Parts: sequence; C-alpha cells; structure tokens
Amino acid sequence: SGLISIDDLVRWIRAFRDAVQQHKDELTRLDSEIGDADHGSNMARGLDAVVATLDPAPASPAELFKTVGMTLVSSVGGASGPLYGTFFLRMGPALSAGNVDAAAVGAALRAGLEGVVSRGKAELGDKTMIDALSPALDAWDAAVAAGAGAAEAARAAAEAAARGRDGTEPLVARKGRASYLGERSAGRLDPGATSATLLIEALRDALET
Ligand code: ADP
Ligand code: MG
Ligand code: MG
Repeated sequence: SGLISIDDLVRWIRAFRDAVQQHKDELTRLDSEIGDADHGSNMARGLDAVVATLDPAPASPAELFKTVGMTLVSSVGGASGPLYGTFFLRMGPALSAGNVDAAAVGAALRAGLEGVVSRGKAELGDKTMIDALSPALDAWDAAVAAGAGAAEAARAAAEAAARGRDGTEPLVARKGRASYLGERSAGRLDPGATSATLLIEALRDALET
C-alpha cells in the first residue's frame, strides 16, 4: 500500500528504546569525553518511560508522538530530553491529517527537526544531533522525490545519518556542554549525533519489509 501504520510507528519507538538500551554505555562513554557522562542514562531513562506509555498502544500517530514527546520532556533532565521531546511533539501535528505515506513521514520528520533547531539554536556543523538528523532528512526527501517508498527512503536516511555522525568527530562543538571545552571538543564523536543515528536506524528497521 505504501502507507505507514500506527503499528509501524510504535515499532519504531520500541526499536529506538531497544537500540538506546543496547548502546547505553557507549553513549555515556562518548558523553564522558566531551560532556558530563549522562547521555546514555538520560536517553535510556526517558525511553523506558516512553515505552511504559505504549500499552495499550495510542490510537493515532498524533496521539503517539504527543505522548512520546511529553514523556521525554518530563522524564529527561538534560539538554537531550527537551530537544528530543520537541522533535516528537512537532511530529504529531504534522501527521494528524490524511494518509501517512513516505512523503508525509518526511514532512513530519522535517517539522521535528525544525523544532529542535528553534529550541536549541544550533546550526549544521555545531557538533550536535542536528549533524545526523539534517543530512538524514535531506536523504529521505531526495529518495522520495526519486520515487522511493518509505523503506527505501529510511535506508538512505540511515546511511546519511551515520555519515553525519561520523562527520562530527573533527568538529569543534558550538552548542551544549561540549562547547565549554572549545577546541578540546574536537576529535570525539558527538553523543547526540550518535543517538540520533540510532533513531533513524530504528525507523529503517521498523519499516523493513
Ligand atoms: P546534557 O548535555 O544536558 O548532559 P545530554 O548529555 O543528554 O544532555 O545530551 C547531550 C547532547 O545534546 C549533545 O551531544 C548534543 O548532540 C545535544 N545538544 C546539546 N545542546 C544542543 C543544542 N543546543 N541543539 C541541538 N542539540 C544539542
Ligand atoms: Mg550529558
Ligand atoms: Mg547532563
């Protein structure tokens, strides 16, 4: 059908939680190098709280993403909670009308990214989650424009996210705690770009057919 169901989207969120749990120590180690060593535990705590709200499953994408966003904002103390929370809170309204196809998911992801940018004021190249999300969404849109369905767009987006994450290594951080290190923040991967890549990879895995 080419349409993405509420079950697919719930599977995405669960897959994201599982990936964060699996990579929790790695995320915290990355944050120990240029931050305060809590990114893995922040994200794991938030997503465990999120998954606890998914039974019974929300009835619509709008309801799902509102709950996910509110739960992250209220259960994660660090910068990442409000930023990921805003991402999901902006996605919901973008999916409240019409069929959820690859283009609609792309537009909703874009609305989420715009929320992160307006809340955190970071730009591409500031060594944040945006460095993974922005190229991922560009790849999603390019794939859809070339006629791809959601599964294929998500594969392209996941590859672009991983490249963007890897590209944060040489960068000097200009936002968040890592920016306190100045030049010493270079030479390390950004933890948030790493978790954002897990987010897009989880979407790819949830949409795999
Ligand atoms: P905290 O820094 O408060 O301890 P976390 O460790 O959970 O929060 O999250 C850190 C991550 O948040 C960073 O690696 C970065 O990707 C992201 N981040 C921090 N500030 C911003 C911002 N202003 N805009 C976008 N992302 C940001
Ligand atoms: Mg931290
Ligand atoms: Mg912290």
